[in-house]
Amino acid sequence: IGQLLRDQAARNGDVDALVEGKLDGTSGRRWTYAELLADAERMAKGLAARFQPGERVAVWGPNLPEWVLVEYAAALAGLTLVTVNPAYQKRELDYVLRQSNSACLFLIPEVRGNPMHQIAEEVAKDLPTLREIVDMTDPDAMFTDPSGTLPDVDTNDPAQIQYTSGTTGFPKGVVLSHRNLTNNARLFVKIGELAEKQTTLGLTPLFHTMGCSMGVLGSLQSATTYVPLLVFDPNAALDLIEREKVSWSICVPTMAVAMVAAQKAKPRDLSSLKLLGMGGAMVAPDLARAVEKVLGAQAMVAYGQTESSPLITSGRPSDSFEDMTGTIGQPALGCEVGIFDPATDEILPCDTVGEIRARSYATMLGYNDNPEATAEAVDAEGWLHTGDLGMMNDRGYTVITGRVKDMIIRAGENLFPAEIENVLLEHGGVAECAVVGVPDEVLGEAVAAFVRMEEGHAMDPEELRAHCRSQISAPKCPAYWEEVESWPLTGSGKIQKFKLRDQWVADHVAEKATS
Ligand code: ATP
Repeated sequence: IGQLLRDQAARNGDVDALVEGKLDGTSGRRWTYAELLADAERMAKGLAARFQPGERVAVWGPNLPEWVLVEYAAALAGLTLVTVNPAYQKRELDYVLRQSNSACLFLIPEVRGNPMHQIAEEVAKDLPTLREIVDMTDPDAMFTDPSGTLPDVDTNDPAQIQYTSGTTGFPKGVVLSHRNLTNNARLFVKIGELAEKQTTLGLTPLFHTMGCSMGVLGSLQSATTYVPLLVFDPNAALDLIEREKVSWSICVPTMAVAMVAAQKAKPRDLSSLKLLGMGGAMVAPDLARAVEKVLGAQAMVAYGQTESSPLITSGRPSDSFEDMTGTIGQPALGCEVGIFDPATDEILPCDTVGEIRARSYATMLGYNDNPEATAEAVDAEGWLHTGDLGMMNDRGYTVITGRVKDMIIRAGENLFPAEIENVLLEHGGVAECAVVGVPDEVLGEAVAAFVRMEEGHAMDPEELRAHCRSQISAPKCPAYWEEVESWPLTGSGKIQKFKLRDQWVADHVAEKATS
């Protein structure tokens, strides 16, 4: 990573590398590639004077330019960067710092009323391994004593520990090498046919793989200007696209939904925006259509997971709309993808649902300090077991049907939430939905639908049931309906279905007890 930064500074020193994206939709400080390298090296020399290569330094904050600076400085100093969700509170921060054995924590004093410095000080009291807390808004602290010597960094050395979203439970620390991460960036730039010296907007949080890996390192690979938006806000995002003439970006679907609504409410000139990559969660074809119509950008669906740095499959700009939106695309370059029978470990024929497995240069080194979980996730032949279900057609396009953990087993029949969700989304009144399996004494599991309606529509379970019934067989039609106004989301904006399920169980068990 450090070498790639040096190369870009040598080749494209005067190109803007980093621009501060503010919450009011304006831009602030700017760094060229030459300036970014100079600052990152100065900071890295300070780190090299205080920490040994291989030690872990954590970063906990919103999308400030300094976050990116820390990412590069850690890489140059041979330290492993630990990325921490800025929404975390004391218990979660404690868990991540302890689990990763971090020696240093970069943070900002407070974000949206969350007193981060105070929380970190409290955690540090019982954590002697944490030797330093550095305020990223204090330049003196950031550039302390740049007297160290930068070590040689091997491409197979661990570069980052990225914690997963926690969509299905507790986040896991994924250890990724410089080689993993730079390969992912190279392949992403090739597949997306991203020209050099463009501008991209950092919508997803930097702690997440779509931020620190795809966004930051994808930009580095293509000498592109990276504009991290402090915290996601749809209006600020659109203002920045207009102001900085952003040409491509990536986000999770819930962010795209919000940007489409904000653009409808107050149109901006988004003519520079050519491509919006979406991934991290299911992308509904209607959303892709709205992105193209309202934002004027080509919608490109990609699929991956932190364990694969993250890209596994992706659409290509030349794909037809149906291939691009009805599927998660084809295997990423340099990535083998197979659909396996999880019970027999055999590769399944085309158009048969099984577990998606992937093998590439970008597969993680392992989970931090968890050899059992690593052995479960990556088998002896190097296949990463994604835990996602899907099927591949004979042209290599894959349709994702859900997660092994989310699959509903109703009276012995396997049901895939994605199929039911797609049917629900075709109903004009449904804005967003999530289908989960809930416990049922007779059937084992029953289908429950959580629905957020479009403004001006009230949820009518009878009507929604009739709509489903006209499209899919009776066992797939939800038996329970819950209207929601907002979702339990991960820090990267994904719906946490396990929380919906837990809430449903808590409510219904309480109801049963009362009756
Ligand atoms: P955890 O492992 O802690 O539960 P997580 O799996 O959400 O969290 P990430 O690495 O952020 O952690 O997300 C990867 C997962 O996101 C994939 O395994 C898949 O389930 C889902 N995903 C990613 N891209 C897509 C996509 N285009 N369509 C559907 N689902 C997707």
